[in-house]
Amino acid sequence: MKLVFLGPPGAGKGTLAVRAVEALKVPHISTGNIFREAIAARIPLGKRIAALIGSGGLVDDEATITLVRERLAKSDTAAGYILDGFPRTIPQADALEKFSTLDKVVNFDIPDATVLERLTGRRVCRNCGFNWHATFNPPSKAGVCDKCGGEVFIREDDKPEAILKRLDVYRIQTAPLIGYYRAKGILIDIDARPSVEEIFAEFKKAVGK
Ligand code: AMP
Repeated sequence: MKLVFLGPPGAGKGTLAVRAVEALKVPHISTGNIFREAIAARIPLGKRIAALIGSGGLVDDEATITLVRERLAKSDTAAGYILDGFPRTIPQADALEKFSTLDKVVNFDIPDATVLERLTGRRVCRNCGFNWHATFNPPSKAGVCDKCGGEVFIREDDKPEAILKRLDVYRIQTAPLIGYYRAKGILIDIDARPSVEEIFAEFKKAVGK
């Protein structure tokens, strides 16, 4: 099954994707994770990408599309994939249509106030990537991941100015994709406010699993 997870930052796309890939046995392809790994690996373009991401802006369409096209050409996507964070613009969606055919697009529906609350409290393990929350789900020892002992940190783009910019970017550049995919008849709306368990149950029902 070829799926896209669409929704504002902080809607819980990545958290649900971790469960969904186990159920569907397809790879989780997160462009945000790929960019963060590229930055950590100190590739030549890493500095430019890091500055863009840190400010809350988007990486340019051309570079992002090339990266996803190459990733989807790998054999592990034969049975499908979950694309998390791509497409984020109409040109990216148009390009994707030329090299793959989606089954469904899952739209994570969530109010701005909830997104703000989640993102300002989000803390991420640098080692295993687990998402903690300063108020709702803090690690038992501040700054240390309970799962793997890794360092728990605040993403540069989870700082207040960057959060507001990312929400603006989402509204202007990404939210139009909701109408784009609804018009194609492949959009599924999911209420992203309840617990991960409830969202996962709703997701499985919606994709027939
Ligand atoms: P995420 O982890 O999905 O929130 O992505 C983190 C950041 O990576 C975003 O704020 C963008 O700067 C960049 N990014 C991720 N996916 C894309 C995309 N499809 N197009 C452009 N930039 C992206």
